[in-house]
Amino acid sequence: MSGNIRWGHRKNFKDGKVYYHYAGFLGYREGADGLPEIDEAEAEIVRRIFSRYLIGHSVPKIIRDLEADGVKTVRGKEKWSDGVIRNMLKNEKYIGDALLQKTYIADIFTKQSKKNLGELPKYYVHDCHPAIIDRVTFQRVQEEIARRASLKKVSAAAKTELSKYSGKYVLTDILSCGNCGSPYRRISWSRPDGKKIVWRCLNRVENGRKFCKDAPTLAESDLHAAIVSAMNERFSMGNVQSLLKDSILAALSPKGEGMSLAAIESRLTELREKQYHFLQLAAAVGAGSTQYDEMLKQISIEFSSLVAKRTKLDKEQETASCADERATQIAAELGRTEPGITEFDEVAVRQLIDSIKVMGKDKLLIRFKDGMELEQPITTLR
Ligand SMILES: [Zn+2]
Repeated sequence: MSGNIRWGHRKNFKDGKVYYHYAGFLGYREGADGLPEIDEAEAEIVRRIFSRYLIGHSVPKIIRDLEADGVKTVRGKEKWSDGVIRNMLKNEKYIGDALLQKTYIADIFTKQSKKNLGELPKYYVHDCHPAIIDRVTFQRVQEEIARRASLKKVSAAAKTELSKYSGKYVLTDILSCGNCGSPYRRISWSRPDGKKIVWRCLNRVENGRKFCKDAPTLAESDLHAAIVSAMNERFSMGNVQSLLKDSILAALSPKGEGMSLAAIESRLTELREKQYHFLQLAAAVGAGSTQYDEMLKQISIEFSSLVAKRTKLDKEQETASCADERATQIAAELGRTEPGITEFDEVAVRQLIDSIKVMGKDKLLIRFKDGMELEQPITTLR
C-alpha cells in the first residue's frame, strides 16, 4: 500500500477506527493493552474450520463434526449455523487485516465524525493484529469458496440425495456426462460378490433413459486409473509449475478496473488541488456557509473511490505473489511423487484438472486448468 492510506496499525486502534466485537468474534480476546490477542483455545477451532473446509468438507459436514465433538460457538451455544461458518471463512480479520470504515470530508465543517453507512467505500488495512490463519491458507479457502460457488447447479427438481453437493469426492465437481451435460454421481452397488463403486450420469439415474440415452456406468477403479494415466501424461509434457500458477492466478485474481496506477495518482493530485481551492472559497465566505458542501462531497466521493481502486490494484499485486508462493508449494507437494503418480490423488486432481467428460464407455475427455485437453482411453480391469 502507498501514500496516505499506509496507516500505522497502532494508530488505528488509538483513533478507534477498527472495532472489535470480541463477544461475537471467535479466536480473539481483548489483551491487557486494549489490543486484540489470540485466544489459543478458540484459535484452534478457527484453524480446524479452515483446514476441514480446505480438505473438501462441506459446511454442513463441518457443523455436524463440531456439534458431535461438543464444540460450542463463541456465544456458548451448542448449535452452529451455516452463516457463522461461512462468515468466518471469509473474515479477513483472521489473517490480521481489517476493513476500516472511514468518515468523510464534511467533517471539516462539523468537526463531527459521520459514520460511513455504505455511501463511501471502505478501506482495507493490512496487519492490524496477530493472524490466526496464514495468508496462503486464507487464499486457498477463498479460491475454494469461489470454486464451489461456480459449480454447475443441479436442477432444483432433483429427486434424490445424489444431487446434493457433498464435497467429499472431487469427481462430483468435475465429472460430467458427454451426452447430456449432467454431473456424474458416485453410487455404491451391493452385489452378491461384494460392494462395487460406480459413477453414473445423475440425469440418467433420476429421470431415466428417455432423458439421457447414452451414459455409461463406470467402475470407480477404472475411472481412477484412466485419470492417473492422463495426469502422468500431462506431467511428462513438463511445465506443471506454470500450469499451476496460471490456474491459481485465474482463480485468485479479481477483474481489473481498467485504470492504471499512474492514472489514478494523477487524478488524485488533481482532486487534491480542486479540494484545496474549494476549501479556501468556503473559508472565505464563512463557517456558516453550505454552498460548497455538495461540491466538496462529490470530490470526496471520487477521491475515496480512487483510493479504493488503488488499494485493489495493490492487492492484486500481492495476489500475484501469493499465487507464485502457492504454485511453488503445490509443485513441491507433487514433486515428491514425480516423475509419475501411481494412485488417484484428490488434491492433485482438484489443483490440475478443470473438467472431465465421459465420452463413452471407453473414453474420457480431460481438460486441464491451462486449457489443454487430452482424450484418455478407459481400460476395463477385470
Ligand atoms: Zn447423461
